[in-house]
Amino acid sequence: MKRREFCTSSLAALAVTGFSSRARAAVPDELPVLSRTGRKLLLTRAEVGELKAGLRGSLLLRGDQGYEQARHIWNGAFDRHPAAIVRCANASDVAHAVQFVATHDLLVAVRGGGHSLPGHSVCDDGVMIDLAPMKGVQADPASKVARVEPGVLLGAMDRAAQAHGMIVPAGTVSHTGVAGLTLGGGFGRLARRFGLSIDSLIGADVVTADGRLVRADSEENADLYWALRGGGGNFGVVISFEFRMHPLAWEPVGGDLVYPFAQARSVLDAVAGYSEGASDDLWLDPVLECDARGTRQLRLTLCHCGEAPGVARDLAAIRKFGKPTLDTTGARPYVTLQSEHDDDSPHGRGYYMTGGLVQSMSPALIANAIDCIQRPGAELAKISITQHGGAIARVPSQATAFANRGASHNVVVRAAWDDPADAESRKAWQKETWKGFAPLSQAIYANLNLGDADPRTLSAYGPNLPRLMELKARYDAKNLFHLNPNIKPHALPVTGPPSPMRP
Ligand SMILES: Cc1cc2nc3c(=O)[nH]c(=O)nc-3n(C[C@H](O)[C@H](O)[C@H](O)COP(=O)(O)OP(=O)(O)OC[C@H]3O[C@@H](n4cnc5c(N)ncnc54)[C@H](O)[C@@H]3O)c2cc1C
Repeated sequence: MKRREFCTSSLAALAVTGFSSRARAAVPDELPVLSRTGRKLLLTRAEVGELKAGLRGSLLLRGDQGYEQARHIWNGAFDRHPAAIVRCANASDVAHAVQFVATHDLLVAVRGGGHSLPGHSVCDDGVMIDLAPMKGVQADPASKVARVEPGVLLGAMDRAAQAHGMIVPAGTVSHTGVAGLTLGGGFGRLARRFGLSIDSLIGADVVTADGRLVRADSEENADLYWALRGGGGNFGVVISFEFRMHPLAWEPVGGDLVYPFAQARSVLDAVAGYSEGASDDLWLDPVLECDARGTRQLRLTLCHCGEAPGVARDLAAIRKFGKPTLDTTGARPYVTLQSEHDDDSPHGRGYYMTGGLVQSMSPALIANAIDCIQRPGAELAKISITQHGGAIARVPSQATAFANRGASHNVVVRAAWDDPADAESRKAWQKETWKGFAPLSQAIYANLNLGDADPRTLSAYGPNLPRLMELKARYDAKNLFHLNPNIKPHALPVTGPPSPMRP
């Protein structure tokens, strides 16, 4: 039986028989909940029962076992309590949940890997559609296609593809979700060689705002396929991603060179110069960081996926940038490299960050980074200047919804705290630091910013915005899915998104 026939017949079976729910919720007489537009509503016991009865997975209400764990996302700055959490087990559950929230016009948050920086995947008093239980991943070496469900984290996808000597280009921290990362673009260690994650996305199955399950690829719903590649979660809930895999049957070279802060400026100058003509096989990610005790240093993370002569040439040049106190670079399995920095971004810590795409790693940019990391409030902070270019820039800006392909780097300023008492001073440091970078950046990367709290959100879409707004009106006219870098469905007067950053 074909995949879509299976989904359709599952839905039909649901309608006839219903699935017995495994949820433990004691359904209350009335459940207070917020509407899509923020009005207070009450769902009746029968309505909540209808939601619960249609699920193979479970429905969690406050007080239920598992509710606390399910409501927490990666960014500990968000302590939100949904009225209901739908733990989806399959496509039918997603369709049922979307139909329910659309019918009752409810506030809805969609959670994939739960790494949304602005906390978009959890909401207070709405319905959280939790895709985390949907963890299926299949990598087929014959067709070179990987099929990935929306609760899968990068590490699982990397392992499945590497089992066949292949990869899907994705991010740099293995506990990040494939779903949100892909829908916003998705760049990482191999993006300069193989492009963004969306550049390897060959199709997706999506539940749209009216609860329909549709296919999006180059032949079916090609407009939707275009919009999904960079348009975030605006167009529906993706229940399956299909990626083209690329060969990587050898061990790439990667790791870190760590320099004392005194060398930071000269090493960053050298990185800037070397980045300009660098091979697509090389990726450089310099990060100025400050630990909890206030010790500053420069960490240069790199990955090289090329052949031995190129690796030797580039590493020899890079080793002359300065005198590192630590050099962990070497050949090792891609999945090892992909998780080496997982512990730098622990779950539950509070984070506040903004980023911006820049045209060059200019002296002004380097000076601002060096100056700001030294200021009070930088404890636990990172300023990263991640290299872009290469294959990312060779795709035309309007080929996918992701517009800003001409950037040389993405600058991200990240504040963090373990003690909530430090939150305000750390955020103040971040905001002040960002002021120095803002004039240097023409656009944002939608996945690494504050969402609607950031007035530059729409710059992520550049000149693709009008087409995205048209498609939003077609696929989600009421803006049911608005907890994301939001594209409004109507032709609102949009004040000057910048032109795309041209390669
Ligand atoms: C530690 C860390 C490292 C990161 N590293 C990188 C990196 O190297 N490269 C990079 O490009 N980005 C990186 N990011 C940013 C990352 O791409 C975004 O945070 C992304 O949104 C995470 O996706 P998620 O599924 O984990 O998040 P979620 O919080 O689950 O979702 C994020 C957004 O996507 C929507 N969404 C999630 N699943 C679906 C779905 N199936 N259908 C429709 N909408 C959905 C949500 O509603 C929400 O708006 C990193 C983030 C973190 C926290």
